[in-house]
Amino acid sequence: MIAVTLPDGSVKNVEAGTTPMEVARSISEGLARNVISASYNDTPLETTTPLTEDGKLILYTWRDDEGKKAFWHSSAHILAQALEELYPGVKLTIGPAIERGFYYDVDFGEQSISESDLKTIEDKMLEIARGKHEFHMRSSSKADALDYYKKQGNEYKVELIEGLEDGTITFCDHASFTDLCRGGHLPNTGLVKAVKLMSIAGAYWRGDENNKQLTRVYGISFPKQKELKEYLALLEEAKKRDHRKLGKELSLFTFSQKVGQGLPLWLPKGAALRERLENFLKAAQKKAGYEMVISPHIGQKELYVTSGHYAKYGADSFQPIKTPNEDEEFLLKPMNCPHHCEMYNSAPWSYKDLPKRYAEFGTVYRYEQSGELHGLTRVRGFTQDDAHIFCTPDQLDAEFKSVIDLVLYVFGSLGFEDFTAQVSLRDPENPDKYIGDLENWEKAEQAIINAADDKGLNYVVETGEAAFYGPKLDFMVKDALGRSWQLGTIQVDYNLPERFDLTYKGSDNELHRPVMIHRAPFGSMERFIAILLEHTGGNFPLWLMPEQVSILTLSEKYENYGQKVLNLLENDEIRALVDNRNETIGKKIREAEMSKIPYMVIVGEQEENDGTVAVRKHGQGDLGVMSVEAFTDLLQNEIKETIKDFKG
Ligand SMILES: [Zn+2]
Ligand SMILES: [Zn+2]
Repeated sequence: MIAVTLPDGSVKNVEAGTTPMEVARSISEGLARNVISASYNDTPLETTTPLTEDGKLILYTWRDDEGKKAFWHSSAHILAQALEELYPGVKLTIGPAIERGFYYDVDFGEQSISESDLKTIEDKMLEIARGKHEFHMRSSSKADALDYYKKQGNEYKVELIEGLEDGTITFCDHASFTDLCRGGHLPNTGLVKAVKLMSIAGAYWRGDENNKQLTRVYGISFPKQKELKEYLALLEEAKKRDHRKLGKELSLFTFSQKVGQGLPLWLPKGAALRERLENFLKAAQKKAGYEMVISPHIGQKELYVTSGHYAKYGADSFQPIKTPNEDEEFLLKPMNCPHHCEMYNSAPWSYKDLPKRYAEFGTVYRYEQSGELHGLTRVRGFTQDDAHIFCTPDQLDAEFKSVIDLVLYVFGSLGFEDFTAQVSLRDPENPDKYIGDLENWEKAEQAIINAADDKGLNYVVETGEAAFYGPKLDFMVKDALGRSWQLGTIQVDYNLPERFDLTYKGSDNELHRPVMIHRAPFGSMERFIAILLEHTGGNFPLWLMPEQVSILTLSEKYENYGQKVLNLLENDEIRALVDNRNETIGKKIREAEMSKIPYMVIVGEQEENDGTVAVRKHGQGDLGVMSVEAFTDLLQNEIKETIKDFKG
């Protein structure tokens, strides 16, 4: 008998040789039907593999990320089989599961495929799936594996196998198909009920542009047809909310080939939006005791050699800027931290002066390959809502709590209700990987966990995920379409205080090293606005909207009254415009709806005589006639509801 421990801690004593699927069945038939894959002692294995020793068994279903991974990995095998059958002689290379779906990179040789062939391939895949073929793992010697692919003339698999150690090589077989594979499959192909091949792209073998270009076929698959339909609908919606499309429609930002790729140009409405976000954070930061600082966009190369950023970014980033003087080199700044360290160093500090909290909307530049650039989410120049806190080790606890308060305030005011946090700690088995003394690390890690508990965060702890210079807390938000985005980060740093020789005088009159915290609730203004655009579909919270009210005149006769309403609203700091064009009211309403202006007020003879406005809300319609004062109150109440005062 062996002891199989399940995730809930319960132990099942079963005969050696029992399979994960049999364990599932002993729990319930329902579970057995839903099991997709399994892991034993943290190693993926087939649901049909006999268990021979005591261990920890996890059974995955479609609801688990691991389950989806096995599902899509198995689907990639089915895709490969379909391609081999439809295009004899193709050479398979690699085909992994990805975040959403899977792909396979294939060398089609003399043959080629186009989008119009995808349907035929999908049908073939479904035909294979319906055969309910079981996946079987099989070990192979290196010599046999090499021989197999050399006979096929598949130089890609040969290259892969040459990089593997003898004794570790396995194949996966299903139906008449076989592929080099490490394992982790569905019980059989029949679980795949819906398939969609999304696109075809070029991809270099091993991502190296000096290598041959292969054809990458992207796909996704589901256990139910209904789930595929929902996924495709979600993609449609995501397309509508693409921040690049909305940014253009709402005239927020643009890019120019002449200015340079990856360098966003903020148009007046976008700049105003960004300024409002910055002012919002500045006001909260002021209450939380931050001081604003400003640093230049470049710094001497030496600065970044000291900070270590040159070693990290130097070779693969923008190259040093030369001056007419020999030996003088500057770098575009990739990070604000070194500048802030030198600011800290501009005066001697005592423990009574700490914490020092320096905040800056600091623009930084990092080279990204042109293929990596994407709208506002991957750019070459961006502005971080950066701040660095310099404090004593004993102050970490309180500082962490206060930063979390600020981050939660930001998320709440912008309508991100669904978020999780990740605490990244050091790997205690590998103490040499980290800088800073053990006692301080323990203090910092405890401070992060205490703060996360105290604030009731929904968080996971990842051991071994800390940076070499300190533990951290990252926030992930889910947007309206259920997609996860990494946003704000709070990071402890023992490294830069060391490198910049930062000190303060303690109560013992000795010099000590301060601890540094890096934090950015938005992350970067560019990325944050992109995420906010996709989350809200451009319907920002009212307080953030570039234009909050459009005043639509029933005819040009009411221009004066429209203007009067505008002045009244502007006196109360409401952003409005008058649409007095000689167009029908229906057209004016439609256009205001299109540009996502949250409120429309219609003014005509009746309204002018009574001193009222007829109010419409974007996406909702008529709210009735009211006085201008009542309308102003309505707007101000809505703003107060979302953006509360930060208590600090
Ligand atoms: Zn496989
Ligand atoms: Zn920093």
